[in-house]
Amino acid sequence: MALMNVERSIPHILAVEARSPQPAHCETQTGPPRLAYINDLRRRAIGPASTPSRGFTVIIVGLDDFCLVEKDFGRGPGYKLLQNLTLELSGLVGRNDSVERTGASEFLVVVADVTDSDDAAAIAQRLLDAIARPRRLKGKNLRITARAGTASYPNHGEDFESLVRYARAALQYTGARCDGGRRHYRPEVEQRVEQHLQLTRRLSNAIAHRELSLHYQPQYEIRGGQHCGVEALARWFRPNGESIAPAIFVRHAEQTGLISALGAWVLQEACMTVATWHRLGEKPPVLCVNVSPHQICHEFSALLARTLERTGFPPPQLELEITEGILIESPEFALECLAQWKRLGVRIAIDDFGTGYSSLSYLSRLPVDRLKVDKSLIQRMVADAKTAAIVRAVISLGEDFGFAVLAEGVETEEQLEMLASMGCQQAQGYLFTPPARADEARSLLAKCWGARRLNRPNTVRPTVASSLAV
Ligand code: C2E
Ligand code: CA
Ligand code: CA
Repeated sequence: MALMNVERSIPHILAVEARSPQPAHCETQTGPPRLAYINDLRRRAIGPASTPSRGFTVIIVGLDDFCLVEKDFGRGPGYKLLQNLTLELSGLVGRNDSVERTGASEFLVVVADVTDSDDAAAIAQRLLDAIARPRRLKGKNLRITARAGTASYPNHGEDFESLVRYARAALQYTGARCDGGRRHYRPEVEQRVEQHLQLTRRLSNAIAHRELSLHYQPQYEIRGGQHCGVEALARWFRPNGESIAPAIFVRHAEQTGLISALGAWVLQEACMTVATWHRLGEKPPVLCVNVSPHQICHEFSALLARTLERTGFPPPQLELEITEGILIESPEFALECLAQWKRLGVRIAIDDFGTGYSSLSYLSRLPVDRLKVDKSLIQRMVADAKTAAIVRAVISLGEDFGFAVLAEGVETEEQLEMLASMGCQQAQGYLFTPPARADEARSLLAKCWGARRLNRPNTVRPTVASSLAV
């Protein structure tokens, strides 16, 4: 089995760590002399008055998609393999160097007396080559791939923690790549690393200082035109007037672990705002809040319970939007978390439906209330008969499973007509209104959109099996 999905895996690895706090060094193979040496390096590099005589390099090695190995072979063999890897890597570095396993599938390597980027790259490459050699586990062939990022003292940082951060950022952006069996190590591009860290600092400040806001986009019943919900969408307007797209900052928050703080703020703010609307007499039947796959954990369930209690928001009117992505990594755990949410009484919707690649059979196990058909399908369906068939089949699937189906990203009358003729119940998109500030959204909710000529009988729908190929 080759594990080659390098682009997806590193943010994933970082996020897994951010989600599952562990002791800083959960396992080490360094013997006492090495450990003493690395501690010494740390002390000497950190003290402001210290002038370390010798440089060193920090290498972070991240295994790609190691969770898949654990999924296929089980936790025990996966753990044993990690222990063996730690030993192997330790054998490849000098007696004054150290190798520690610092996360679910991450190693921290400290190499003494190396400060030159080419030398650091050569050592990192040696480690990656060793990891990538073909292996056998429980009678099956296995190939693990990894990436590495480096940072050296004193060239890249003055203290140990910064060096680790830099090496991690380097790994994320510019580390070695596995490319058709050839692995290229590219030393970090400092400018990109610096940009990454700067965005992290700014986003962290923005969350702490309430620089973020929420916009709300109403949703409508296609046949009657009444509103049927509102989706909260995060916005970031910087004090200098610049606005940063959610696609950028939400993803960045996911990569850096800031998503927990961001998500907690969004949930609290949205519930408080819409609870105020309730008091003022405007009652959107449902408030939808996006939940990133990186937020799904037991802590989120506890946060949800606390937020519902503090804001007094009625749980049946809160809908959490998740994507199919949550099921890929660890489906059993995700199902357990969703069951906890359901026990709290909230609704669950699957967002961006039709673009994921997990098996449809999971739908029968998920406690879902609504499917949101992805806007890319809505935008293609008018010109493309096959896409139209997928949308029709999703609508049919929703009916068969008893889920409401909402089409997102509806921009034209033509799309709306087509959805109505397919029997789609609900829609959201620029045709009705773009996301708006809270006060504007509230006044929009006071009006019925009025679906005028759409009150006509549905056309015959196809069977799921004949047209859906997800
Ligand atoms: P999404 O959840 O699929 O949200 C719908 C996106 O489509 C929003 O983009 C919305 O502004 C945009 N949209 C609405 N109607 C139309 C339309 O008719 N045409 C087109 N082309 N677009 C339309 P936005 O606000 O830029 O958000 C992008 C994504 O960022 C969201 O996609 C969601 O995945 C993520 N996001 C936004 N806010 C949050 C949040 O609070 N938490 C999390 N976890 N993710 C969020
Ligand atoms: Ca959404
Ligand atoms: Ca969506």
